[in-house]
Amino acid sequence: MYDATPEKMPKARLGRRAFLKLAAVGAGVGATASLVASNKVRAATSEEVKDPYPGSKKVKTICSICSAGCGMVAEVHNGVWVRQDVAQDHPISEGSHCCKGADQIDLVKSKMRLKYPLKKENGEWKRISWQQAIDEISQKMLKLREESGPDMAMFLGSAKFNLQQSFYFRKFAAMWGTNNIDHVARI
Ligand code: SF4
Repeated sequence: MYDATPEKMPKARLGRRAFLKLAAVGAGVGATASLVASNKVRAATSEEVKDPYPGSKKVKTICSICSAGCGMVAEVHNGVWVRQDVAQDHPISEGSHCCKGADQIDLVKSKMRLKYPLKKENGEWKRISWQQAIDEISQKMLKLREESGPDMAMFLGSAKFNLQQSFYFRKFAAMWGTNNIDHVARI
């Protein structure tokens, strides 16, 4: 995993998105080279090139990143979301996506996706349990609230929250004791 601390980021004028893409390409090249070296890859057959996901289903759905709800067609193969396309006949988006929606499949497919909590100890990222992460973060938050009161915190909801997650997030801020809550789209 790459280190995203400011002092470790590249000095060149490289945007974060471009940097992440380059990092992914670099990892892909390395992984491909090791597969070739170990004879684990072969050329795809013409059938596989024509139809890499035989029997897949196309499911019409919507992009969940923002409330526009643009139309999307998700291709599902053996229960796994493998490809996405725009829904040409959607009444709102009429066959288009913004750049966030165009990458939505990466929410489940990206190799860069964080799947478990990590803690930096002595300069090294270490995997920790969810329980440890929840305990440590909650203890720090409670200490800050004790020292400075509940309004020391600002809760900023994610554009990726669904309805139920937004409900719980709002409840959490209220039970914490503050009205300092807003949605990231306000930025
Ligand atoms: S494609 Fe873009 S504009 Fe459309 S719902 Fe997704 S994030 Fe919103």
